Amino acid sequence: MSIQVVPWLSPSSLTAFSDCKQQWKWGYADGYRSMGRSSVFDVGSGVHIGLAASYRGEDGLVAFEAWVDAEVAKTERFMEAGGDDIARALESDLESLEETRALGSVMLEQYFSWFVAESFEVLAVERRLERTIPGTDWTLACIIDAVVRDHSRSGRIYVLEHKTFSRFEEWYLYKDQQFVAEAWVAETLVDERVAGVIYNGLRKAFPERTKKDLFERRYIDVNRAQINALLRRLRGMQKQLTSGSLAIYPEPSLAKCRYCQFKEPCDLLLRGDDYQEYLDLMFTKRGDDGR
Ligand code: SF4
Repeated sequence: MSIQVVPWLSPSSLTAFSDCKQQWKWGYADGYRSMGRSSVFDVGSGVHIGLAASYRGEDGLVAFEAWVDAEVAKTERFMEAGGDDIARALESDLESLEETRALGSVMLEQYFSWFVAESFEVLAVERRLERTIPGTDWTLACIIDAVVRDHSRSGRIYVLEHKTFSRFEEWYLYKDQQFVAEAWVAETLVDERVAGVIYNGLRKAFPERTKKDLFERRYIDVNRAQINALLRRLRGMQKQLTSGSLAIYPEPSLAKCRYCQFKEPCDLLLRGDDYQEYLDLMFTKRGDDGR
């Protein structure tokens, strides 16, 4: 199958492509996004907004609240304009956003009181960066949360990567090629080597409801061999996408399907039913709705 694709890759598209080609096609080649909202994912988005504001020297809590307010207003507009089916589908979103407001503001308050004295010099915040993949005319694009010079580490430069998590799986941090990609792409921003990534984890939990640590911070150094392994994988994906003979089909597995936003249209496709009608009704295409 020949697919019209933009000539850039990202760490998340790389993962989706490896996980399931159908999920990748709908999510990245076609750009579909579910209109349904999950507070689990929204807490992460909102907390990122608050942290970005804070590392810019602004009030992170104010930025977070403003983001929730804007999302509430946007959802209400959608419900008014979308007719009965859309309104019903989005009913639970307003409730979900209030859950997000409660949890996200507590997470940020705890974070701001916890990490009061950091050894960071902030060089950049929330930047989309691209770097040409050697041997191709495609680029690797990453959205970087922040780039910092860490004076507690001889002034070396790191990407600061915020993550919200429910379960902390430290072993995977050192395999995750998202971090390799970010460190490599961030070198376009600074005129020196980027040493790696600081994983800056915030647990998605109210403090009174957990006995576990609320924050996990780890330094993940990135070396040349890891970068070369990533570049080989990127070139392999680019080659498949431009081959003109890419096979696209659902590749079900419990672990991947559990978190997939395309479960319902995928069921319809597998049963030979009209999945396109469902996509048109329940999904938007990135960029065409302002969301
Ligand atoms: S539900 Fe599973 S098989 Fe279907 S698109 Fe998603 S990941 Fe692929």
